[in-house]
Amino acid sequence: MARKSQRVCSFCGRPMEHLFTGMSDEVMICNECIEAGHQMIATMPKKESTAEDSLNMETLPTPQEMKEFMDLYVIGQDEAKRYLSVAVYNHYKRLLQEISNDDVEIEKSNILLVGSTGTGKTLLARTIAKMLKVPFAIGDATALTQAGYVGEDVESLLVRLLQDADFDVKKAQRGIIFIDEIDKIARKSENMSITRDVSGEGVQQSLLKMLEGSIVNVPPKGGRKHPDQELLQVDTKNILFICGGAFDGIEGKISQRMNTQTVGFAAQEKAAQVDKNNLLQYIAPQDLKSYGLIPEIIGRLPVLTYLQPLDKVALRNILTEPKNALTKQYKKLMAMDNVSLVFDDDALDFIVDKAIEYKLGARGLRGLMESVMTDLMFDLPSHKKIGESKSFTVTKAFVQEKLDRARLTRLQKAG
Ligand code: ADP
Repeated sequence: MARKSQRVCSFCGRPMEHLFTGMSDEVMICNECIEAGHQMIATMPKKESTAEDSLNMETLPTPQEMKEFMDLYVIGQDEAKRYLSVAVYNHYKRLLQEISNDDVEIEKSNILLVGSTGTGKTLLARTIAKMLKVPFAIGDATALTQAGYVGEDVESLLVRLLQDADFDVKKAQRGIIFIDEIDKIARKSENMSITRDVSGEGVQQSLLKMLEGSIVNVPPKGGRKHPDQELLQVDTKNILFICGGAFDGIEGKISQRMNTQTVGFAAQEKAAQVDKNNLLQYIAPQDLKSYGLIPEIIGRLPVLTYLQPLDKVALRNILTEPKNALTKQYKKLMAMDNVSLVFDDDALDFIVDKAIEYKLGARGLRGLMESVMTDLMFDLPSHKKIGESKSFTVTKAFVQEKLDRARLTRLQKAG
């Protein structure tokens, strides 16, 4: 047949000695055309970088830069900020080395933040995600399924992360999940039999699967699973988990351990230096075990750090120092109505005293401020209508009056 005697390249049309065929021998390509095609591909413009590959060793902030950023939003907690910065830095370095196909595997460094409620654990996690512009989700360990398998609730954490990533699975897989109240799923006692305490143990097991890295099927837009629905597969391997817990009473376990360790003269000297008022700073993995976390979970949370209780000075600073401090927010709101707002120092001191007196901590500052500011925010905007600009000073007497009124109203409501 003519075709057989005339073997030509289907691309350049020339009769060639070396021709390659594919599935059928109707179409052939010569070695020169393969070479030319290879050159074309090599010189093609690279695809535009997306948010997901924008994180590289040049753009990744250093631990110091991360801490400086956290300093803008979170008061104090220096130790936690340092641990968190290093762990987050290493985590993203780990992801970048995976991309470069290096042989040395860096292990994941999930983080456990131990500290009383309202000391800034969630705020720290949220702030670091904000800085890195990675998807972020918050969940509560107490809401996780008790049956001990990866079920609805674990998925729901991933759904939230996906939502924050606009359902871009790749992006979500590099996000951060904060799981609060991890202490609440501890076994009641280290030695208690598993059968008598299925719940804590079971939840820890389901959480463990996520921390270790597993592929979880998630319905595309959240919602309920549907038999015919195509599910999104989310791999949790590269998601950074930051866990938080108050671990009420863990100081007892810490001091117990430290007492049994302190044997001999040198140890006694050491014991004398122990700061008994802040035992949390000595927290170690074995204390978490004594508290009832299973060793596998502890192993998956290798970065362990603590948060200080917030004292009066810290609470006072929280009102004025952070980039979006409450006083700054109220000033901004008022400025939009041409009102320049001033807070007297003793007015703020009084609010802090009340937060301490009512044991409300940092979280309570917001509620107290609202009670003080609501009437003002109701009345002052009216001035805008008559084109006046005005200034208003929040004095201690004013705060006192508003808080007394708020308490009276609450009492009346209760009565
Ligand atoms: P936690 O997670 O430790 O229970 P959060 O981080 O949710 O506490 O803190 C509750 C609120 O209290 C935050 O939204 C923030 O307004 C305030 N807050 C707590 N700790 C700090 C802090 N160290 N610096 C600034 N604000 C803080």
